[in-house]
Amino acid sequence: MDIMTQFDNSYARLPERFFSKVDPTPVPTPEIILFNTKLAAQLGVSEWSERPDILAGNTVPTGADPLAQVYAAHQFGGWVPRLGDGRAILLGEVVTDQGRFDIQLKGAGRTPYSRSGDGRNWLGPVLREYIVSEFMAAMNVPTTRALAATATGARVQRERAYPGGVVTRVAASHIRVGTFQYFTAQGDTSAVKLLIDHVRERHFPQAADTLGVYESIVAAQAKLIAKWMGLGFVHGVMNTDNMAISGETIDYGPCAFIDSYASNACFSSIDHQGRYAFDQQSNIAGWNLAQLGSCFVPLLSEELGGQEAAVESLTDVLNSFPAIFQAEWRSVFGAKLGITSPDETDLELAQELLDLMQTQHADFTNVFAGLSTGTARDEFTDPSAFDLWFEKWQARVTLDDDARAAMNAANPKIIPRTHQLEQAIQAAIEGDFAPAQRLARVLSDPMHLSPDDIDLTRPPLTHEIVPNTFCG
Ligand code: AMP
Ligand code: MG
Ligand code: MG
Repeated sequence: MDIMTQFDNSYARLPERFFSKVDPTPVPTPEIILFNTKLAAQLGVSEWSERPDILAGNTVPTGADPLAQVYAAHQFGGWVPRLGDGRAILLGEVVTDQGRFDIQLKGAGRTPYSRSGDGRNWLGPVLREYIVSEFMAAMNVPTTRALAATATGARVQRERAYPGGVVTRVAASHIRVGTFQYFTAQGDTSAVKLLIDHVRERHFPQAADTLGVYESIVAAQAKLIAKWMGLGFVHGVMNTDNMAISGETIDYGPCAFIDSYASNACFSSIDHQGRYAFDQQSNIAGWNLAQLGSCFVPLLSEELGGQEAAVESLTDVLNSFPAIFQAEWRSVFGAKLGITSPDETDLELAQELLDLMQTQHADFTNVFAGLSTGTARDEFTDPSAFDLWFEKWQARVTLDDDARAAMNAANPKIIPRTHQLEQAIQAAIEGDFAPAQRLARVLSDPMHLSPDDIDLTRPPLTHEIVPNTFCG
């Protein structure tokens, strides 16, 4: 027997200026494409595997209190004072023995924040978010999760008409840097205080004070971005509304993983300047966190009895970001090389390998996965340069059980490759969900690849390369 879903909607208890109460708009024929059985059990909603009506928003479950959250953002550096959930509706929060989780329907219809948008999602972004976020979770990268991908039976007009869908997203919360910015821009310090208290209770109970909350957020982001780098992940749209205060990866719109390594890889069709390119991600996270820091100034000034003291303390915390990021990067790439306590020289060793991969267009994932199996060499057009590096690496590393375990955990054999996602999405558009279901299954356990799925390790052939990704 499943435990009955227990909603406890703490965000809905915040003052009304934090959200708009709005119900999902029903869709014609909800049909479940992907359902996350394990996550459902954790959340106490296993019975939803038979409830496409709930997952698509046609039925609001008992105890839910649907709302759209308001927030602002810097989008590509430009200030937007009011955005908000234009196509996502928070059903409510469930409390489990693993903590409190938001359950949100993305693509559930219009809200007061939809502006000219239709409030809908289509199967492409829905399937991409499900598959990629569940891969990230399997790789122990903090992320929002996917409970289900549901087809709606309606068409959604984009550059052409596509089948509509809803992704049921699960998150520690959906509070963003932009949520703070929204209230700060209005001089609403009491709302900022409420939000900080809410965030502290919910995500950072160990934080001693207001500054400690900021410190925890900064540290969580520094660690998160280093983990992205270790997987060759390019988020693609690191606007301040797409940075979750909890430290989870959020918004899988135009994201992509690097195939052939390039440090400045950038895939998003709307990122013309490479603002959110692979090697810019730690800088941009720092920029976003500086914006967040400025939201803490008024309250901290009150607490510390002066603005100068507040700015100085916040700046000190922000300045700790690069060191935390570097330390995490080092441990992530150390693990990828089988080195448990990496030092400065090991950083150079990792960087040398990346440089070689870049000049020879080697496949990021397959090189790392192939180090312990002996196939990494095959990824290089001129293996002699790699051989020299490999000798150095072998002199440094003892491939004992610990080293192998660290490498296996850090180097997935398979990643969600953009061309494979595209092929699965194309099939889904034509009504065949099997390729998406296969990707979801295999990528939710990337450490254990069955021989039947070895084809998924293949990088794209020239004609298969998908150079650009879209927000959807
Ligand atoms: P994103 O680029 O996905 O982070 O979305 C940025 C903003 O645009 C958010 O406020 C979204 O809710 C809103 N938005 C994106 N697509 C739609 C849509 N189809 N209808 C309404 N709002 C949307
Ligand atoms: Mg977003
Ligand atoms: Mg998006």
